[in-house]
Amino acid sequence: MKKIVKNGIIVTATDTYQADLLIENGKIAAIGHDFPLGGAELIDTRGSYVFPGGIDPHTHLEMPFGGTVSKDDFETGTIAAAFGGTTTVIDFCLTNKGEPMKNAIQTWHAKSKDKAVIDYSFHLMIGEINEDVLEELPVVMEEEGITSFKVFMAYKNVFQADDGTLFRTLLAAKELGGLVMVHAENGDVIDYLVNQALEQGNTDPIYHALTRPPEVEGEATGRAAQLTGLANSQLYVVHVSCAEAVEKIAAARRKGYDVWGETCPQYLVLDQTYLEKPNFEGAKYVWSPPLREKWHQDVLWNALKNGDLQTLGSDQCSFDFNGQKDLGKGDFSKIPNGGPIIEDRVSILFSEGVKKGRISLNQFVDIVSTRNAKLFGLYPQKGTIAVGADADIVIFDPNVERTISAETHHMAADYNPFEGMQVTGEPVSVLSRGEFVIREKQFVGKIGKGQYIKRARYNSSATDATDKVSN
Ligand SMILES: [Zn+2]
Repeated sequence: MKKIVKNGIIVTATDTYQADLLIENGKIAAIGHDFPLGGAELIDTRGSYVFPGGIDPHTHLEMPFGGTVSKDDFETGTIAAAFGGTTTVIDFCLTNKGEPMKNAIQTWHAKSKDKAVIDYSFHLMIGEINEDVLEELPVVMEEEGITSFKVFMAYKNVFQADDGTLFRTLLAAKELGGLVMVHAENGDVIDYLVNQALEQGNTDPIYHALTRPPEVEGEATGRAAQLTGLANSQLYVVHVSCAEAVEKIAAARRKGYDVWGETCPQYLVLDQTYLEKPNFEGAKYVWSPPLREKWHQDVLWNALKNGDLQTLGSDQCSFDFNGQKDLGKGDFSKIPNGGPIIEDRVSILFSEGVKKGRISLNQFVDIVSTRNAKLFGLYPQKGTIAVGADADIVIFDPNVERTISAETHHMAADYNPFEGMQVTGEPVSVLSRGEFVIREKQFVGKIGKGQYIKRARYNSSATDATDKVSN
């Protein structure tokens, strides 16, 4: 059915203007004024912002980790994402050494198909490089449209890959048109520091942060960036948390290296003192990299503003406080890493970023949506308001105020790390390919309606178009 989105202020990564949208067959068919109604459904936005649906480039839904499985799956996770103004998620498909990657991808299809309410895609973890992997990679890219590969430099004896694997992945990505993503922390040094802390009887959650200091993130980020330059390849550093890592990314970019950086809401608004909360509550705030001293937040905001960091991911990986996080009682190294973030990613960036004058409205759209579409081969099907693009649209009230709370959120986890935080601005309605998923703050979507999206190969020239976003 045709729809007309009326009286909205269209916001893209480059422009802000008043116009109506005509939606037909799931796509934006026209942008203009005074479209004849002609049987179309009229959606009056009453002057709200209308921007492209958020693209969350970093989620771990129903992921096995640390002897448990992340709580939000592709159903609860994508419903919560939609409530928060996100219409596409890219989840990390974990692979097992010695097994065909195809098997892992099938596992991820099985847990997402018939569950997701918005569109989704996968990144692929590379744990080792051998002849089998090199043979399978081009096939996976062609058949599955997976064009980004994740290498872990941390989690020793679990996910961690060595530098040879990282370098060969960078070379393969260069040849095949892929984007290499790294979790940049020095896993060997962390392993030593964690064992030392535990031997000394230091078992509380705060030691999670103290055994993963900023230097280990800065060192690994610099190492990955240097190897990228050597391979003349392309790199995306996930969940940048500290000044030390920002410096390395900025330096690499100044050299002309094709290096990009993502941060997450938790690093922008929470700090290391949260890990010191009594009664084991610090476990709610265990991420890797860990929360940092508060002054790092200003560095991250400035990096988003000046373009040294370009994107915001949620790193959604939720665990209940009761029954999952408490696996680490008496040993911080056994606390499952991660938290429920997917729902509040867009709101927090708008409220803390745009409303507080740290970034512009157009930068906000670029950071939560457009840039992610460009980097990960979804643009211009997704990530913008343009004729021919998917009608993935958020109608956003920029003035409404709300308090974030586990009592009202739609994620499955039993707590919210931003509990009690006041935010300004909230999605009112959200459309995925022209159909309402959220309507007037109510879920009206269909379980399983989300489609798996094959993505195009990495194209560095496509990513440059909004390098300089006007303020
Ligand atoms: Zn992650």
